[in-house]
Amino acid sequence: MKVLVAGGAGYIGSHTCKALAEAGHTPIVYDSLHTGHSWAIKWGAFERGDLNDAATLGAVLKRHRPDAVINFAALAYVGDSVREPNHYYRVNVGGLLTLIETMRAHDVGAMVFSSSCATYGEPDRQPIDEDTRQFPISPYGRTKLVGEMMLSDACAAHGLGAVALRYFNAAGADAAGETGEEHDPETHLIPLVLQAAAGVRPHISIFGSDYDTPDGTCIRDYIHVTDLAAAHVAALSVCAPGKFAAFNLGTGTGTSINEIITHACAITGKNIPVVPASRRPGDPPRLVANASRAAAGLKWRPLHSTPENIIETAWRWMTEHRQRVVK
Ligand code: UDP
Repeated sequence: MKVLVAGGAGYIGSHTCKALAEAGHTPIVYDSLHTGHSWAIKWGAFERGDLNDAATLGAVLKRHRPDAVINFAALAYVGDSVREPNHYYRVNVGGLLTLIETMRAHDVGAMVFSSSCATYGEPDRQPIDEDTRQFPISPYGRTKLVGEMMLSDACAAHGLGAVALRYFNAAGADAAGETGEEHDPETHLIPLVLQAAAGVRPHISIFGSDYDTPDGTCIRDYIHVTDLAAAHVAALSVCAPGKFAAFNLGTGTGTSINEIITHACAITGKNIPVVPASRRPGDPPRLVANASRAAAGLKWRPLHSTPENIIETAWRWMTEHRQRVVK
């Protein structure tokens, strides 16, 4: 299949391009390079453009005639989305609308969409299955929920086939070191812990140690980016005209912040200074997926997602391959 990968120069997008190429598909990266990296474009052609630029997007669809689109192109900082909601709606919702309309104009009938466990907000039931009520608590989460609704409506009205993949906590890096995570600013726990191990940061702050969890720190379901990439490839084959489907992508196992830091100390052999800090607003104590629908529907299961492997691959990427640590 020829697959246009919008946001293919980003973290999850570049790993997915590699997985597509390895599975015999042809990725075409469409990226504005606002947050993506030119070094991450290694698999397939590159077309520079913005999702909201219908003319460029249309010309690219006309030139390459892809069978499907995977859409990673979006803004993904929860805190920024609270400060700049209009910008988030313009890019994440407006950009998706332009993409849906342009795909329709060019007869591209299948889309796999990056969604998020942020669409669930703070559910009172764990683990979270796909029927858990979606009630996002941030503008970012709301842009993803609106995106799912737009896709579902376009499937019903225009025969699009779409799959939304609700990621839990994406982490880790390509085992061969060909791509990895580089965000600026970095806000995610595991890269920050590893930066503290590398001495690039003085310490890691733990946002809240008094949660109602066994060790008092928040529990998340960390899923290796290589497993996420494989799920996108699998999702292409379940896009069916007129049908919208959503799948959680997680392991079903939660890991606390303290456990992540303990693993990181063991793997890096470094002392990681820890500083207790106050809770970060909007952080639920526990977010763990029930991913059994993906197991049945996508024939997918995580193969790389132990906390040890996630931290090991992320550490190798940071120290051996990228050799540049973003502050
Ligand atoms: N976290 C932390 N210190 C940091 C960054 C994150 O204690 O410097 C915590 C955060 O409050 C959450 C967990 O680590 O409980 C995972 O946060 P991250 O931002 O990586 O992902 P999120 O769960 O917010 O998507």
